[in-house]
Amino acid sequence: MTKRQASTQAAPQASAKPRRRASEVSAEPLVERVPRKRDARPKAREADFVVIGAGSGGVAAARRAASHGARVILVERDAIGGTCVNRGCVPKKMLSYGAGWASILSTCLSHTGGKEDWRDAIVRVNAEVARLNASYKQRLNEAGVEIWHGAAQLDERGDIVVGNEVIRAGKTLIATGASPVALPIPGGELVSSSDDVFTWQTLPASIVVIGGGYIAVEMASILSRYGVKVDLLVREDRLLQRFDHDIATSLAEVLVAKGVRIHFRTQVTMVSQSNGATEVCYTQENNPGRTQTVRTQAVLAAIGRKPNVDGLGLDALGVKRDDKGGIKVDRQFRSSVRSIYAIGDCMADNIHLTPVAIAQGRWLADRLFGKRGDIADLDVVPTAVFCEPAIGAVGLTEAQAIEAADGKPDRVRTEIKRFVSLENRFGGVPYPSVFKLVLNARSGRVLGVHLMDGAAPEIVQALAVALRLGLKASHLKTTLPLHPTVAEELFG
Ligand code: NDP
Repeated sequence: MTKRQASTQAAPQASAKPRRRASEVSAEPLVERVPRKRDARPKAREADFVVIGAGSGGVAAARRAASHGARVILVERDAIGGTCVNRGCVPKKMLSYGAGWASILSTCLSHTGGKEDWRDAIVRVNAEVARLNASYKQRLNEAGVEIWHGAAQLDERGDIVVGNEVIRAGKTLIATGASPVALPIPGGELVSSSDDVFTWQTLPASIVVIGGGYIAVEMASILSRYGVKVDLLVREDRLLQRFDHDIATSLAEVLVAKGVRIHFRTQVTMVSQSNGATEVCYTQENNPGRTQTVRTQAVLAAIGRKPNVDGLGLDALGVKRDDKGGIKVDRQFRSSVRSIYAIGDCMADNIHLTPVAIAQGRWLADRLFGKRGDIADLDVVPTAVFCEPAIGAVGLTEAQAIEAADGKPDRVRTEIKRFVSLENRFGGVPYPSVFKLVLNARSGRVLGVHLMDGAAPEIVQALAVALRLGLKASHLKTTLPLHPTVAEELFG
């Protein structure tokens, strides 16, 4: 299995027929086709708001700004919808569903010979991604947003250059997202990223997944359920550093029970090819002098993502970056250059989740072109890891709560329940579900909810509201449970 070879980046070129609101349509061509003279600078198109990047945040900002009557141009060099639609949340979640069916079919329905097939799953995923790409385009067109296909670059005046065309914008939004960090070791070029997985037509028989965060855990879980032999190499002594330790430990136990081989405290030193296989060399913290080797068909690294800001011309304009290379902004998402704004994953110092980018994009568009609205509460952010069993979490982990209580563990109380769900009993897979509450020991206020179960993300989404409204343990005790559900374990 090799890395995706073909670049998906389209040649910079403005779309032939950008759209305006129906009321503004005239007989004039919308993009002026100025014949290119040697040193003549093409005449700039004017726009109130140019958004570079048509991912979740960029699309949300563009549509919202257009709804306030702004003339908006959205520039995208790749497919509309960005990482979430094309290489992230949507294809991953669909593959996870397919992998879930695969494990059900191969356990309790094994006698029927049912099996989920990767090739077929990818066809279904691609069909949905294509439907979403078309639907995004249609909704942007209906909102009056022009879409230009091509790579955007800002020139020395801050004008946006796309191929042979130039746009002069009142305000420019950088919403270019992030892309996978390459593994910085010899042989790193042999290693795939999660972007590549969605292009695979067939699966390798074995894979080494490097990383212990969201993507590594999700990919290890999905691929192992499609029948791939998975070795997960984790640098730390646990999975999912940002999640509660009890949930992360329980998840590791279930993944191991399901056949994923997890190697903690490892340092990958080299990747090489030999005799048709790939070899991954690593050392372990307890024995750094001894190099161990795994032979595998494929290697996937998910070791974080870096902001997509190179080549935009931002440095020449004096746009300040943070120490991880992302764009620095103030509380209004304005960069150090007055007319340039940024939202979403292109800021390293941000929460890298689709709904965060969408909320920031809409808030900014309202502020610039409509009426300032309420920004989403970024202190209480529900989040999920779509592995099997899934993890859902909102609020503080136990460790964070103790830290917030000046390091005094007696000011924090936890309640933890481990049980086997009805669904797992029926399926003959007695893996536990784990529900953990982190509470203020004195007031009983719920500070964090951490769940491991297939239903965890759905439950956490609803509980996030309750948490923001000051949920207490007594509220959970006096709310009637809905029976039979897994959520009822939290109530009554
Ligand atoms: P994460 O930041 O979640 O995890 C990165 C992991 O890679 C950590 O375990 C880190 O270890 C490890 N790592 C970093 N450098 C190396 C290295 N050189 N060698 C070995 N291991 C290394 O990144 P992801 O790539 O998993 O995800 C990126 C972002 O995408 C996340 O921040 C998340 O917000 C978002 N995302 C969200 C999803 C969701 O909502 N379900 C799904 C997928 C992605 P250490 O802890 O030691 O630094």
